[in-house]
Amino acid sequence: MPGKSETGEIAAVATSLRRHLQRRQRAGIRILRSEQPDQLVEPRVAGDRQSLVGADVDLFAEPSPALDAESLDALRAEIGDCRRCKLCAGRTHLVFGVGNPHARLMFVGEGPGRDEDLQGEPFVGRAGQLLNDIITKGMGLKREDVYIANVVKCRPPENRNPEPDEVAACEPFLKKQIDLVRPEVIVGLGKFAVQTLLQSKAPISKLRGHWHRYHGIPLMPTFHPAYLLRNPADKKLVWEDIKKVIKELRGENV
Ligand code: URA
Repeated sequence: MPGKSETGEIAAVATSLRRHLQRRQRAGIRILRSEQPDQLVEPRVAGDRQSLVGADVDLFAEPSPALDAESLDALRAEIGDCRRCKLCAGRTHLVFGVGNPHARLMFVGEGPGRDEDLQGEPFVGRAGQLLNDIITKGMGLKREDVYIANVVKCRPPENRNPEPDEVAACEPFLKKQIDLVRPEVIVGLGKFAVQTLLQSKAPISKLRGHWHRYHGIPLMPTFHPAYLLRNPADKKLVWEDIKKVIKELRGENV
């Protein structure tokens, strides 16, 4: 007979497994790339959930009971008029995220700037215009095909870096967004987002251009578009990184 604590552990494992299977079922995931390599050859960015790379991961083996949302809209509603950290004091809008809820590609930035705070949408200022160019001119996609979010959802004063307590309060929402979107590839934009996602202190110049994983999902770090506005010569490096992402989405990186 299992003891009381073992029974509790077994129940927790069963709950975790049930949730994992429910998420897979909701996403319509039955086939993984390792089983069907030729399923991935199509270069589409939105669509067939059966051809997901990295989809067979359980981001939330122990999901927070507070984050039971089953859709991005439900998650946004759950976040509500957020007062969980001090950034709420200075914000105009909470900037949740935008794009295709089933995108194969997700971009993650640091946090809203002035334009984003005013408009309530990520990457709409000058850096956003450059990101749009990367998506449309570089990748041949539409902004609506991908999903775009930030590590923190409210603008830090004077565009300073988010502080650890602010990241701690907000990162579960980003994780949940990633869990709901289930992208095949994440592009981390800039030092702050990448170091936060990878829990690394390595410089972005070392991290970029190499594949990493965020809870099992391939992650390509690259320079932040705002950095590129100041250092346009490094656009060619970002293009190298983006070409790797295109190849991955086409299933050519195997
Ligand atoms: N920079 C970011 O990191 N995110 C935005 O949404 C805008 C600028």
